[in-house]
Amino acid sequence: MSLSFEISKELADYAETVRAWSLAECRPYAREADEKHAPPANWAQILDTSPVPLGRVDKPQEDPLPDFAEGQYVSKAVITEALTYGDVWVPPVLGGGIGELVVEAMGTPEQIARWYDPIAATGGTTGFALTEPGFGSDTSLVATTATREGDTWVLNGTKIFCTGGATGEYVTVFATVDKSQGAKGINCFVVPRGTPGFTVPKATESKLGIRSWVTSELLFDNCAVPLENRLGWTADGAAEARRSGRSGALAALVHNRPRMSSMAMALARAALDVTKEQLAGQKTGFAPQRWALVENELENMGHALERGRRLVLRAQYLVDIGKEGTDVAAAAAAKAYAPQTCERMIRRCIQLLGPEGWSRELLLEKWYRDVKIMDIFEGSGQIQRIIAGRTLMGRLVG
Ligand SMILES: Cc1cc2nc3c(=O)[nH]c(=O)nc-3n(C[C@H](O)[C@H](O)[C@H](O)COP(=O)(O)OP(=O)(O)OC[C@H]3O[C@@H](n4cnc5c(N)ncnc54)[C@H](O)[C@@H]3O)c2cc1C
Repeated sequence: MSLSFEISKELADYAETVRAWSLAECRPYAREADEKHAPPANWAQILDTSPVPLGRVDKPQEDPLPDFAEGQYVSKAVITEALTYGDVWVPPVLGGGIGELVVEAMGTPEQIARWYDPIAATGGTTGFALTEPGFGSDTSLVATTATREGDTWVLNGTKIFCTGGATGEYVTVFATVDKSQGAKGINCFVVPRGTPGFTVPKATESKLGIRSWVTSELLFDNCAVPLENRLGWTADGAAEARRSGRSGALAALVHNRPRMSSMAMALARAALDVTKEQLAGQKTGFAPQRWALVENELENMGHALERGRRLVLRAQYLVDIGKEGTDVAAAAAAKAYAPQTCERMIRRCIQLLGPEGWSRELLLEKWYRDVKIMDIFEGSGQIQRIIAGRTLMGRLVG
């Protein structure tokens, strides 16, 4: 049995090419993306300069990512870290979203063929609409309703902070078909963009960080979708559900969460590299003992990044081999550890550089704002620690 966590040379070289490109071509637009709350207007031309395919959603045929021996989840985590090294504005313009992962987790074979397979094959953007004004972490509180009317399900309710929801091909919307059933009544519906009754009252939220990401408020006002759009059910009402709405949502998040940690690690690595570069030019101003302390601190941060990377790779490896269920704490541990650690690292880098670190001349203050959300969305750090704790100790109540 191999105990190595090394990735293949092919994937490592590919990621290094993407990382170097992201640094050279994407980072120069980081401040502009933050200030304008949007990716650079010429993002497509910037992506055109990439020496390797990136898996672009606007050029699915010409730009597919290669297959790597590691499997798609490990390779996506590694490539996501490389892409984000330039800045956080890069990953969303490539497409993505996690609506299709919900279809994969909950859909019937026909639904998977219709809504998951094309996105998996050629890319695309989809939204995942769970959070509402009244809740985020406690998914049993879904208040959006779905009511059967003839040959349709009619959705009513508001979803907030939906990444890609305004622009995606479709949104997977969680709604209750029967409030008296609590979490068991939650189902998930595919709502294609342009469906009458589906509108976007707020195109994008004003945010502390990741300001270039489009996160929207979505309104479903008597929005009718065909019966076959209820995931896990056939049009004649026969349940094929492998998972309920709530656990389907959680399954999709389990698959994607570690990728959020990859983004956090990219920002922390970027901050660490900038800090090393700045400090190297100031070495002569340090007393030897103080310099030794600084070096020691930088080295410890490097080790912390490596620990985060191993947690992410292990969690994604389990998904790739279809065994994520054997260690449900793996994704939770990756998400609980990396974003929080990376936030501390960037804060520490700012501290080491003093006013220079806090100034807008460098990007550290921006990455510090960007990284915080990675400890909140797709399940906050506290919730991940609860999941990991329950795996160790079992559920005490509920
Ligand atoms: C930029 C951005 C993008 C987002 N994208 C999406 C998206 O695409 N789709 C979507 O559906 N949602 C999205 N969200 C919403 C996000 O997933 C929620 O904000 C998140 O799940 C937390 O929910 P909440 O904000 O309601 O916080 P709450 O659940 O109210 O929690 C508030 C705080 O209390 C803590 N807490 C809650 N319960 C417990 C507990 N039992 N024990 C200890 N601490 C607890 C939480 O960790 C958190 O720190 C996005 C949010 C942001 C900011």
